Amino acid sequence: MQTLTLRCTLRPTPEQVRALEATVELFAEGCNHALRVAKERGEFRRFRLHHLVYRDLRALGLSANLAVQVIARVGRRKGSRAKFYRPTSCTFDQRTLSLRLKDETISLTTVRGRMLILMKLGNYQRELLNRAKSIQGGVLTKGAKGKWYIHLHLRVETPEPLGGGGKVVGVDLGQKALATLSTGLQFSGGPLRGKRLHYLRKRAEVRSKLDRPSERTKGLKHLWERLRGREARFVNHTLHTLAKRIVDSLEPGDTLAIEDLTGLKDHTTKRGKRERYLHNLWPYARFRFFVEYKAALKGIKVVAVDPHHTSQECPRCGHVAKENRRSQALFRCTACGFQHNADWVAAHNIARRAGSMGMGRCKPARILRVSSFHHLPLESLRL
Ligand SMILES: [Zn+2]
Repeated sequence: MQTLTLRCTLRPTPEQVRALEATVELFAEGCNHALRVAKERGEFRRFRLHHLVYRDLRALGLSANLAVQVIARVGRRKGSRAKFYRPTSCTFDQRTLSLRLKDETISLTTVRGRMLILMKLGNYQRELLNRAKSIQGGVLTKGAKGKWYIHLHLRVETPEPLGGGGKVVGVDLGQKALATLSTGLQFSGGPLRGKRLHYLRKRAEVRSKLDRPSERTKGLKHLWERLRGREARFVNHTLHTLAKRIVDSLEPGDTLAIEDLTGLKDHTTKRGKRERYLHNLWPYARFRFFVEYKAALKGIKVVAVDPHHTSQECPRCGHVAKENRRSQALFRCTACGFQHNADWVAAHNIARRAGSMGMGRCKPARILRVSSFHHLPLESLRL
């Protein structure tokens, strides 16, 4: 059983928008009042704070449930660091939030009463909502351009990673080929590379104009923001799709081995600016996060292994040499002559390091870190 956060877009009517606005405003007002009192009294413990402000919050017009949520938000360790709460969000619990899946609506208790609001769902969200054992409330947020979202906290039944039974599959991340699996499956990096170069040029263009004060218009700033947003959405979408297709190719009980690249960024200083930009095109941490939670939902274990020399080691005889890698694409062992696609060799070595029985010599597994779904920052999850 795991808890995860699913973001859904809402489609409120104009009247409902006014009710939502009024709710987040009152909620923020309540938070700011509780914060003031907490600071004056130097008291951020939830239970104590409750006694100090509950009556005031109810007098403000907040329902009992919302008052409790206000206290929960301010009365926590992080609360003392807050300066001010802006009217952009509001927390609902199981009594003030419920879903009706058959007509894809959500029911929220606002300050203007219970509202039945339409949701905009994709297939993935539908699937998760149908699988959810329960919904533990959620957070209503107001995004840019007046969009409204609900971040639902779901309890989802997930198969326990079996481990041992299934196969171990390695994945090598790269530029030309975005990802190569030791099963032979490969995903081309062409579209991502081309598109990001396009954005790189576009941004440089706008940047140079922004640097000249005479041309720094509002429209140009908007264009800059739009470009950044578009690029971020494109990269996110690509990573999601890739992660999904990798996980789709595996079975429950399998183990996916991935390079632990978290410390590798500094080794790229010799590259040119363009190269570096493309190298950083792998938002590795985000990709790994996507892979890990998709894998967890399917009962697939993800392990991170030592990435050193994965592309230089011969899968047949174990000989490690720079010269083994003849070119970007070709691996040929200088000791035994073994020859194969270089990306596949890397993926194979990654799988073997995670403990699979490869061909030829088998080293003991050097697993650096077994990643667990529970440690992930679920708040940032977007599906
Ligand atoms: Zn060899």
